[in-house]
Amino acid sequence: MNSVLLINQIFLFLNVAVGCLLAFWVFSANRQEKVNRIFFIVTILMVLWTIFAFLGFSTKEPQKALIWYRLNYGVVALFFIVSYFFSIYFPKKIAENRFLTKFVVVLCFLLFLISVFSNLIISGVKEKEWGTEIIFGEGKLFYYIPIFFLTFLILYNLFKKYFILTKEERLKIQYVLVGIFVFALANLIFNIGFTFLTDSVQFSHFGDYSAIFILGFTALAIVKRELFGIKVILTELLVGIMGVVLVVLPFLMPTPNLKILTLAVFLLFLIFGYYLVNATHKEEGRREEAERMAVQERALRLRTERLTRARDQFILSSQHYFRTPLTSIIGFLEMVLDESYGKLPEKVKEKLGLTSRSVLELRKRIEESLDISQFQIRKGKGILSLEEVRVEDLIKNVIEELKPQAKEKNLYLEVSFPENPLPKMKLDKKRMFMVFVNLIDNGIKHTLKGGIKLFLEYLKDKNSILFSVKDTGIGIPKEELPFIGQMPFERGRKAKELTPLGKGIGLYLSRLVVEAHGGKLWTESEGIGKGSVFYIELPVK
Ligand code: ADP
Repeated sequence: MNSVLLINQIFLFLNVAVGCLLAFWVFSANRQEKVNRIFFIVTILMVLWTIFAFLGFSTKEPQKALIWYRLNYGVVALFFIVSYFFSIYFPKKIAENRFLTKFVVVLCFLLFLISVFSNLIISGVKEKEWGTEIIFGEGKLFYYIPIFFLTFLILYNLFKKYFILTKEERLKIQYVLVGIFVFALANLIFNIGFTFLTDSVQFSHFGDYSAIFILGFTALAIVKRELFGIKVILTELLVGIMGVVLVVLPFLMPTPNLKILTLAVFLLFLIFGYYLVNATHKEEGRREEAERMAVQERALRLRTERLTRARDQFILSSQHYFRTPLTSIIGFLEMVLDESYGKLPEKVKEKLGLTSRSVLELRKRIEESLDISQFQIRKGKGILSLEEVRVEDLIKNVIEELKPQAKEKNLYLEVSFPENPLPKMKLDKKRMFMVFVNLIDNGIKHTLKGGIKLFLEYLKDKNSILFSVKDTGIGIPKEELPFIGQMPFERGRKAKELTPLGKGIGLYLSRLVVEAHGGKLWTESEGIGKGSVFYIELPVK
């Protein structure tokens, strides 16, 4: 029996020492904060309650024991007042129900009074060989029912705010809950289990002492900025409890062999436990790292998107910015060349003519690059100005424009239209005109003898039209085919020799325009010297 008392004393001492340390640690971590102050009071009350309980339990003088026990119960009642406030303020204050608060304060104070100053709750003590035991009074339930209700209220307060809290704040509540869980478990084992098994309440104080777990976890939750995830804590706790059980086991074993065996199990468990705890810590570290990276990645993506938008905006506006003065230059040049400001010497007129052509070429290039940026950036949306067009007419106009060039190079330029007229189509007339010119002009440019044939047909099954330009020119080598028209400034090797002034813009832009119409542009060629075919397929819609 004495050994139980001794263990009790040791536990009490530990409890008081750890309790006081926790109280001062939390208090000094932030004196201004209400939660820290409340925690300080809660802890001191808990320390007092365990001291009173121990004194009552261990003294042999019934008169004194009665006073200690009654103080014990009184302090527990006060403990619940402060715990209730804690549940309002931790980890973040919620709006309190003032009426309820007043009710709780009055109720607990009443409980304090009746348990300390009346024999309603505790009527006396029974002497035992190890000390004394409580004899409950008639009104025992007047004490336990409100305490049960208050416990529920405190838990309810914590749960209620759980869902409106941030992740870190939730973790804090989880910490407190882990403490409560351990406390409940210890009470189940010692207060109920042991009392039932040994038919004596002398072990029940061990359950009381485990309240230190609630305080310990709560203290961590209040003070620590970065908490380990709840998985890590639970693993450590489990390993800790198992460790304690296994370390006690050898002492309880009846034979030396069993003692050695259980000791060996304990040692094995130590190694296992070490790795388990280590592994959970590592996993937690990795998870945190992944979360941090995800946050960084998101920030980076947002930044890139912002920069891209800014860049696009800059490109679009800078081209408009160049266009305006050019338009005035062209206008003035035209008037000067028309001799609106007086007759020009022949030499000047000639040079001004060249200047005018260069300026027009410059404007064309700016228009082209503005178009390319617009198609790239806005994906063609809202750029096209669509109107009803008869494709045959459009192509006839293009041929009229390019005939002289073909003739100059002695090339034929033939066209074959389908027998039935094509359905009318909604196209951006100006831009599609440019596309057809570009393709046919390319055919003329890259052909030295022979000529160019144009085909136009209606693909009934796809409800689209197919336009093709077939030339007998320099052709395109297989290895260059995939790149032709895919990127601006992309030019074939042979083409560079033949047309050194080419820019490699036209085909790329044509493809963008066709795609903006929902169509396709592609190239076929049997190889160098074997001519090429350029296709455009456009949906009729
Ligand atoms: P450019 O004609 O100014 O070089 P394009 O964008 O119109 O630019 O054409 C890009 C490249 O595609 C040309 O440099 C050439 O290599 C190739 N190409 C276009 N049309 C033909 C064609 N009809 N025959 C052979 N190669 C062609």
